[in-house]
Amino acid sequence: MSLYNALPTLCPVHGPPKNRQNCRHCNAAYMRGYMRTARRKRPARAILDRARHRARKNGVSFALSGKDILVPKNCPVLGIPLVIGGPRSNASPSLDRINPYKGYAVGNVRVISDRANRLKGGRSLSEIEALSRKARPNQRADYKAIAIYMEREALLIDVKRKALLGGSASPWIVIADFLEHKFRTFFD
Ligand SMILES: [Zn+2]
Repeated sequence: MSLYNALPTLCPVHGPPKNRQNCRHCNAAYMRGYMRTARRKRPARAILDRARHRARKNGVSFALSGKDILVPKNCPVLGIPLVIGGPRSNASPSLDRINPYKGYAVGNVRVISDRANRLKGGRSLSEIEALSRKARPNQRADYKAIAIYMEREALLIDVKRKALLGGSASPWIVIADFLEHKFRTFFD
């Protein structure tokens, strides 16, 4: 966390910054909170816009909003730090459709690195596993990591299905929530 992020979004006099017209501390605290939220939301917005554009171009259904896009620090597939902003690179965040036969929908997307997304493409698990053995040597480890990612996401989809069937008291809901967070932030 940067020093800037550590600064409070409360006014030292008024607490919640409700007196922005008359109190400069309120105004400063409000702006810190506003900028903090904007910084957090901006990468999600950019990822969403790119994905929506791709969806239109390829005739894929799209049912996501900004709140559905959670950006981890590191690529959950390859473990490399995601680089927000700047020119597109292997480390740019990119929205993967976990099941490429389904659209951009809640539960079927994960923010991963551009490199992982490109290597995965629309391939099946068995195709990726074959590539982890037969691809160029410098790519095999990445394909292996993609296979592991696909297997764990398939497990999560199954757990979520059980949670949905089980009703609100189902222990699968707790397990699904835990795995969802764990898988998103796997290398954070
Ligand atoms: Zn104040």
